[in-house]
Amino acid sequence: MVPIYQFPIERSTQRRLRPNPTLGEFPKGEAYLRFASEPPNLYIGITQFERITVKLDVLAIAAHPDDIELSCGGTIIKLAKQGRKVGIVDLTEGELGTRGTREIRAKEALNAARILGVSVRENLGIPDGNIENTVENRARLIRSIRRHKPEVLLLPFHTDRHPDHVNAHTLCREAWFFSGIDKMETHDNDIKQAAHRPRNYYSYMQWFEFVPSFIVDVSDEYEQRLNAVKAFKSQFHDPSSTEKETVLSTPEFLELIRTRLEYYGDRIGKKYGEPFFSPSYVPVVDLYSLDL
Ligand SMILES: [Zn+2]
Repeated sequence: MVPIYQFPIERSTQRRLRPNPTLGEFPKGEAYLRFASEPPNLYIGITQFERITVKLDVLAIAAHPDDIELSCGGTIIKLAKQGRKVGIVDLTEGELGTRGTREIRAKEALNAARILGVSVRENLGIPDGNIENTVENRARLIRSIRRHKPEVLLLPFHTDRHPDHVNAHTLCREAWFFSGIDKMETHDNDIKQAAHRPRNYYSYMQWFEFVPSFIVDVSDEYEQRLNAVKAFKSQFHDPSSTEKETVLSTPEFLELIRTRLEYYGDRIGKKYGEPFFSPSYVPVVDLYSLDL
């Protein structure tokens, strides 16, 4: 069975949708978004008939479903609460994960997306464990960036324990750059896309640590963030699970995440914080407004 992704969308987008014969009519104010696991149907967030375009402020890109929730879920929630439109692109379906299945991960990703408050979540269907910086994969990601025209990207850091995270960083960085090149042509629904380069990108922290360029206060978002992580039930601690235990599924793992958030929160005088790395300096417009 094909998992169905469902998000509230804007009225203007809804009018563009046609009923899907396999799903029936679209309920008012909502669109059913198809999860397609095999190329060329590459996307979560795209119907078979018409692709859904949401203009985003921030797009978070990750190697695996649950990477965003673990590393910068609080920041995503905070942005959404501040009225920003945020989206997620998962490069792979996380099918190499020891626990759960491709389909279970997809449903969990949908539930987590709802909790985070994002407007769209796509999956590029690149094989898990084999994220390569190829012409084809760059084109897939450039297509997503140009479709949603975010101003800011959130990416993995350039070095990490999992090779997919490292390769995802390179793929994301190059897609960010080439998205802005007119002569790098991509098409969406057979329509040539306009060039668009987000003004900057920031890396979130996964396994390896770095000296942050800035830390986002996520004290008020912590509980919601934890719920988004727990939406990936198959991956994390579940006393009733009969599946093989992994590092991620021990009760200590969630505690580890909390401890790190507490540490970086403490560094900025807050309860919880999420660290980011910026490849360029972050300008300060109003020094007096810095909350130190
Ligand atoms: Zn990952």
